[in-house]
Amino acid sequence: MSLDTSAEARVASGLADVRARIASACARAGRDPGSVKLLAVSKRHAPEAMRAAHALGQREFGENYVQELVQKAAALADLPDLRLRLIGHLQRNKIKDVLRAAATVDTLDSIRLAQALAERASAVGVVVPVLVQVNIGDEPQKSGVAEAELPALVAAIRGMASLQLQGLLAIPPAELSPDARRPLFRRLRELAGELSLPELSIGMSDDLEVAIEEGATMVRVGTAIFGPRY
Ligand SMILES: *Cc1c(COP(=O)(O)O)cnc(C)c1O
Repeated sequence: MSLDTSAEARVASGLADVRARIASACARAGRDPGSVKLLAVSKRHAPEAMRAAHALGQREFGENYVQELVQKAAALADLPDLRLRLIGHLQRNKIKDVLRAAATVDTLDSIRLAQALAERASAVGVVVPVLVQVNIGDEPQKSGVAEAELPALVAAIRGMASLQLQGLLAIPPAELSPDARRPLFRRLRELAGELSLPELSIGMSDDLEVAIEEGATMVRVGTAIFGPRY
């Protein structure tokens, strides 16, 4: 299967548009554009759309579901420097699969899950870069560690030799406007600072400017690059 030329053109213009938004947000915030990485969120888009983005220099892609991530890793195994990050919830029975296909796990949210991932990583002799997902809006249904439990989780992960903790990820409540998310982003940045964690994964298609102003080092953008999901 190959993308028709209009779909390829869509990815090209979406990617160019998002790169320009990142550059102007960085300029407004007085930040080096090199300090904000773009993670292309490719869930429920075809591997061919990822291939088109890769041809334009995009290397890191975010996937939410382990099975889909594994399938895409296989379909795109020929692409140099491709890195797939898991940005959806990880179930412990999927750890084996995720370790084979993903470069990072960005959604650790419990000591139990971290321990299970660390054990498996150590058994296969790899060190996995990870982020901790924080339930920054304190939403009862949502994944992510509660702010009060974050320091203990961070300390525990730092004690696990096969995990390399790089930072924090958060998904603010969807019903908040981008400006209403600002204090939550700011709080996450404070937490990352207190814990000496450099990476801050915040910002999506509709709020990447606010996230960059509040210190994002990685924005996770799907729709604005690839169009609507099916
Ligand atoms: C789907 C998803 C995104 C991308 O959202 P868009 O609004 O399409 O940019 C970012 N982060 C996570 C965790 C997601 O699940």
